[in-house]
Order: sequence, then structure tokens, then C-alpha cells
Amino acid sequence: MTFHVNAQHQLERAPESLELRHRWDKVPSYRITPVVVVVHYGVTRTQSQLESALAVSDYVSAHIAMSARGNERVVTQMVPFNVRAAHAGAAAVYRGRSGVNSFSLGIEINNPGPLFETPDGWADIRGKLWDGEVLVADHPSGRFPKWQAWARYTQDEIAVVTALCLAFVERYPTIVDVVGHDEIRTDKADPGPAFPVAELRSLLFHRTQMLT
Ligand SMILES: [Zn+2]
Repeated sequence: MTFHVNAQHQLERAPESLELRHRWDKVPSYRITPVVVVVHYGVTRTQSQLESALAVSDYVSAHIAMSARGNERVVTQMVPFNVRAAHAGAAAVYRGRSGVNSFSLGIEINNPGPLFETPDGWADIRGKLWDGEVLVADHPSGRFPKWQAWARYTQDEIAVVTALCLAFVERYPTIVDVVGHDEIRTDKADPGPAFPVAELRSLLFHRTQMLT
């Protein structure tokens, strides 16, 4: 599976198994040089919910919104890769630097995040039942003791994120790291223990730890 980022900072040539969309969100004029990729979950259940959440708010956006589960196999580019998107938040700090949105690319995965046991089975934070796979695990940060189960990402979702990161690193040699939002912000749980961020770092940069 390979993607390609063209001279206009747009994704082109997605794998055949995926639908590639461009849905430009607001597109502010602030230019960035990406240094790090930040992975998120959207606390969502459908691609349209995820895209709407990113498009509606003036305070939330991301470069990529994606789903690769069941019949929903879509990668949507919302913001050109040389333009700032608002995904990391003001509280995020990477290698001592705040203003992470000004030097990062954001990937939002359609995933509900924490799950809770109900008489009818696992449910997401809004009470909607989850029929996908479940990971029972504490959040590695220790900051979310009440959240002990997580919606697993599909192998296809992890493969899409990996392929996107490979295309980003090829196009932008300035990128030196990929991190979970929960690694650069103490109040965020996404993408959570179900996302193999250390493995992704290992594959991309030959180390499991983020740069410090
Ligand atoms: Zn996030």
C-alpha cells in the first residue's frame, strides 16, 4: 500500500482498496514545515461523523480524516500538508516546544476510543454498542484509571496510517518523529493503548521512543 504527496502538498494515488477524497476545511494561510506526525482518534463511529467534527469547528481540524473498517475505507485530506491544522491544541508540547500545530501533521482515525461494559456488551462513551474487537488495557500514562478497555484499530487502519507516514517522510525529510496525541498532551487519551505507536516509530525511525 503506498500513497504519494504531490508538489501541491496534496495526497494523490491512494491504494485501490481506498477511496481518496479532498474536502478542504477552512484552509487558513499559515504555512508550516512539518517535523512530527501526530496520531489521534476522533471519538467517532463513522467517517462522516469524523469529517463533520473536523469541518464544523473553527478550533479543530486535521490534515487527514480516515476510516478503514468494514465497508468504510476512506482517506480524506482536509488541509494541505504545508498549511497548519488545529489538532494538537495549545497545551501540547513536543521536545520542549509548544505550538505543535505549527510544525506537525495530524491524522485523525475514525475510532470511538474508550469502551465500557454494559449488560448488552461493550459500548462507547456515548452508550452506542461496539461490535469490533476490544483491547482490555490500562492507558500507559496512568492518567485514565477508569478507562480500561479500548476499541481496537483494524490491521487495515494501522496499515493506512503507516503508509501515510511513509509518504509524508518521503515528501518532507524534515519529519523526524511520529507521536500519539497522548504522548504530547497530559489531558488527552488518544490514540490510546490500542494504537501501536512504538512499532510505527520503530518502522519509520528505527527507535521505539519519541525524541526528547
Ligand atoms: Zn487528539
